[in-house]
Amino acid sequence: GSMTNEYKPYEQIRVVKEKFGNPAKQNATMLTLARNEELYEMLQSIQQLESRFNRNFQYDWVFLNDKPFTHEFIEQTSAMVSGTARYGIIPYEHWSYPDHIDVQKAKEIRESREYANVAYGSSESYRHMCRFNSLFFYKHPIMDDYQYYWRVEPSIEYGCDILTDPFKYMVENKVNYGFTLTLTEFPKTIPTLWKTSLDYFLQPEVAEQIPSDEENLLSFISGDNGRTYNLCHFWSNFEIANLDFFRSPMYEGYVQHLDRAGGFFYERWGDAPVHTIAVAKMMRASEIHLFTEISYKHTVAGSCPLDDAFRRRARCTCDPGLDWSITSGSSCNLHYMDVAHQPHMADYEKYRN
Ligand code: GDP
Ligand code: MN
Repeated sequence: GSMTNEYKPYEQIRVVKEKFGNPAKQNATMLTLARNEELYEMLQSIQQLESRFNRNFQYDWVFLNDKPFTHEFIEQTSAMVSGTARYGIIPYEHWSYPDHIDVQKAKEIRESREYANVAYGSSESYRHMCRFNSLFFYKHPIMDDYQYYWRVEPSIEYGCDILTDPFKYMVENKVNYGFTLTLTEFPKTIPTLWKTSLDYFLQPEVAEQIPSDEENLLSFISGDNGRTYNLCHFWSNFEIANLDFFRSPMYEGYVQHLDRAGGFFYERWGDAPVHTIAVAKMMRASEIHLFTEISYKHTVAGSCPLDDAFRRRARCTCDPGLDWSITSGSSCNLHYMDVAHQPHMADYEKYRN
C-alpha cells in the first residue's frame, strides 16, 4: 500500500490499498478505537476478521485514538488490513470534560467507596471512552465518508467464516442495528440512566417523532412497559450499524440530554446501555437484527451457531456447548428471540441446558 497524508484535520495518515474491486461492496468501514499499547491485541483482531471475512471484501478500516498513533502501530496494522487503513486523531472536545461538569466532584465520585468495586468505576479514561462512543464516534470527520460501520476491538475472535456480507444483509433488509451478544449491566454504573432517558422520551416533541411502543423493541429492555429498565444491553464492542441513525436529530437530542445530566462522569454510564436504550426505543423492531451465524468472542462472552451443518459449512472452530446465550444467566439473547419472535437455530434443542 502507499502512504498518503491528506493533511486533513484529524486524519493522521491513510494507507491506500489497491483493491480487486468487489462490485457488491457497501458504503461501509470497520471501525476501531484503540490505544497504541494494544497493538498486539489489535493485530489478533485484524487477523481474525480479515481471514474470516474481510480479505474477500476489502472494506476500509478506520482507527481512532485520543493520542496520535505510533509509527509502529500504523505500520503493523496497515500491513494486515486488506482495505485502505485510515488513522484518525480524536478532537480534544470529544475526549475532555464539558464546561458544565464539576471536575472535582467527578474525581471524588471516582475515588469513593461506591465505585471502588465497580468495573472501571475508578477510571477517568474509561468514562471519556464511553462518552466518546455515545456522542462522538459518528462525528469524526473520517466517518463522514461512510454510512455503515462495524465496530472491532482489540482481543476478539471470530469462530466461523462469515460467508455473506453483513453490510449487504443490512442494506437489503433495511436493518439499522446488528448485534451478536447481549449482557445485563451492573446496576451501580447507571443508577439514574433510565429515569434520565424517560425524561427525554416523554417530551411531547420527542414522543411524536419516535415509533410507538408497539412498533419498537421496548419489550427487550423493560418487562413493565417502560417503568423500569431490565439492564439488558447489546454488547456494543461488536456492533454493525447505520450511521444515519446516530446522526439523526432524535439520537443527537437523546445523547445531548444525557450529557447535560452528567452521568457519564458522576456515574459510569456505558455506551452499551446508551446505544441499547436508544435503539430499542427509537428504532422499529424490524430494524434490529441478531446475527446468529456470526461467531464472535471477546473476553468473557462468545457466541457459537447452534446449527451443526452450518458450522461445517462455515469452518467453525467454536464450541456450541459454550455458546453464551445458553450458558450464561447474564445473556439476554433468548429473551430477545422471544420478544422479536425469532426462531431458534436448527440444533438449539440439542445444546440448550
Ligand atoms: P471493555 O470492553 O468494556 O472491557 O473496555 P476496553 O478496555 O476493551 O475498551 C473499549 C474500547 O475502547 C477498546 O477498543 C479499547 O481499545 C478502547 N479504549 C479504552 N480506553 C481507551 C483510551 O483511553 N484511549 C483509546 N484510544 N482507546 C481506548
Ligand atoms: Mn473490550
